Amino acid sequence: MSSLRTAFSSSNTSAAYRILTARRTLHTSSLSSSTLSAFSTFTRKTKPSLSLGNSLVTSSRSAHRITPSSNLSLHQFSTTAHSTMRVIPVPALEDNYSYIILDEKTSEAAVVDPVQPQKLMHILQHLGAKLTSVLCTHHHWDHAGGNVELIAKKPGLAVFGADARIPEINYVVKDKEEFKVGSLTVQALWTHCHTKGSVSYYVKDGADRAVFTGDTLFLSGCGRFFEGTAADMYNSLLHILATLPVETKVYCGHEYTKANLKFAQHVEPENPHVAQKLQWCMDESVTVTVPGTIGEELLCNPFLRVK
Ligand SMILES: [Zn+2]
Repeated sequence: MSSLRTAFSSSNTSAAYRILTARRTLHTSSLSSSTLSAFSTFTRKTKPSLSLGNSLVTSSRSAHRITPSSNLSLHQFSTTAHSTMRVIPVPALEDNYSYIILDEKTSEAAVVDPVQPQKLMHILQHLGAKLTSVLCTHHHWDHAGGNVELIAKKPGLAVFGADARIPEINYVVKDKEEFKVGSLTVQALWTHCHTKGSVSYYVKDGADRAVFTGDTLFLSGCGRFFEGTAADMYNSLLHILATLPVETKVYCGHEYTKANLKFAQHVEPENPHVAQKLQWCMDESVTVTVPGTIGEELLCNPFLRVK
């Protein structure tokens, strides 16, 4: 369970005040609600399908209403017809997410926070993907704890991160530094606070955008301030992540969305977007809520709606 309720309040009283008064200081986006809702994945009617080995996963109503025909709860998303980026969220441990980012043009792939590498290797094998990179959002065990096992199995991988405490790290990224995974461009964004070395990875493929936020930004919430201040989190959320294009898909480190939306509704009981997304989330067939979008977060996430 997210520490969202205590995150700001336990760390900084002025930030807590901003949260609790969010109803009076709502962030008013320059974009209209109807424009933003065009990017809303929870109202989207697209029907993605994928085959993974012998499993077939199709959506029944929206990108999130997945009806698996096997035990595998694996989904992959593509946003634009011309995009070659595919993202596969892989649930891990109790409520963590690892991700596979596949560049279909070159079959090159990266994994994000591969805490259970065996699971990821199995999927990569099915995809026929060539794993080249490991993107670590931060050093916590439930994110970076699989690195040693992964590198033992696949020596020579580039292990990216911004914290010497990350096992097997061999490439320390600078803020805003760009590198490639196949034909995809990845930009490291320093989003410190949850830890001193927390990084978000912003991936661009033509017009397609995705950001992997670890435990900094959750859908409708944010991470705990283990090694930073409320001001650090405010900067990471408002000045960095919230400024990404609204259509950017958000892939976070934990499945906390339902609990976060309940808190968001407590903070903003009259926010129709929160009510709509919470209603969707309460459907027990919805077990995987990623990806969100930056546009959705601007509408629903109380931590992005404070000034
Ligand atoms: Zn963490």
